[in-house]
Amino acid sequence: HLQDLSVDLPLGGLFSRGKALNILAGITLDLPRGQTLGLVGESGSGKTTLARAILGLQPSSGTMLFDGKPLASRSDYRAIRRRSALMFQDAAASLSPRMNVEQAITEPFTIHREPMGRRRDRAAELLAEVGLPAAFAARFPHELSGGQARRVGVARALALKPELVIADEPTAGLDVSVQADILNLMADLKERHGLSYLVITHNLALIRHVADRIAVLYLGRLVETGPTAEIFAVPAHPYTQSLIAAEPKPDPRKRRADLAIQGEIPGVLRRPRACEFHTRCPLAQEICRQDEPVLRTIAPGRQARCHLIEEKTLNRETTDELDH
Ligand code: SF4
Repeated sequence: HLQDLSVDLPLGGLFSRGKALNILAGITLDLPRGQTLGLVGESGSGKTTLARAILGLQPSSGTMLFDGKPLASRSDYRAIRRRSALMFQDAAASLSPRMNVEQAITEPFTIHREPMGRRRDRAAELLAEVGLPAAFAARFPHELSGGQARRVGVARALALKPELVIADEPTAGLDVSVQADILNLMADLKERHGLSYLVITHNLALIRHVADRIAVLYLGRLVETGPTAEIFAVPAHPYTQSLIAAEPKPDPRKRRADLAIQGEIPGVLRRPRACEFHTRCPLAQEICRQDEPVLRTIAPGRQARCHLIEEKTLNRETTDELDH
């Protein structure tokens, strides 16, 4: 559980006078055991910073609870890193070209000073978990296909039997059929080991497929959270509506031009005041430029951060949509 997490980065340079740049603020999220939370947003929304803050790799303020216990000291964060794993989006690049697969997937034991028994046996076990033959242990990263490198990345992530896996764009750059294989593998491992996933992506099709719940991030603020099926049925926040409207559709006539997102994400250096989405929001009004909206509950299990969402309307629409 995260409560009111914020990340500020000190501005470097001669004239910064100790000022800091706010990257994330007010992030309150739950990730129940055995569930997948999809963290969605464009690049520049703060997704990766949030993942790093959860692992204690990025200084942050706020409260974080793991298994109900607050994390306070460095050793608490070390324990979290021991019980979590990061799966990088560019699996091939994240593997050292000088290490063979056996060394790469057993390296976490060395980093965390954990007993591993015979390296060869442990490597064979991990490779079997991800559906690769034991002979792959001797290969080097340049001898692996994209899908195989991704499997090796998963094997490495599983080495220390984590409870939480943070997967950053787990299928980026892969062919569609290989993407499906990796997603099936992730689902299998979730089932077998009771893993929880935090999947970070801008790919809505992926999120729709894997996530139990979604959190949508815009310029370092949560703008909407809720169960995946409900958000896709009736997205509440104009940003979520735009993201879903922009998804490629088999029938292009079904794309909603009125919800199309305008322009580029402004960047944290030029964060718009009040509602930070007002510069791109098709529904923006005067109040949006004056007052900052707060993240509030708009239906059971759903929250959004927008002045214009009516709880009653949303409840009615969601029930109607899910009935059809
Ligand atoms: Fe758009 Fe206003 Fe809602 Fe912000 S508060 S998302 S600008 S309607």
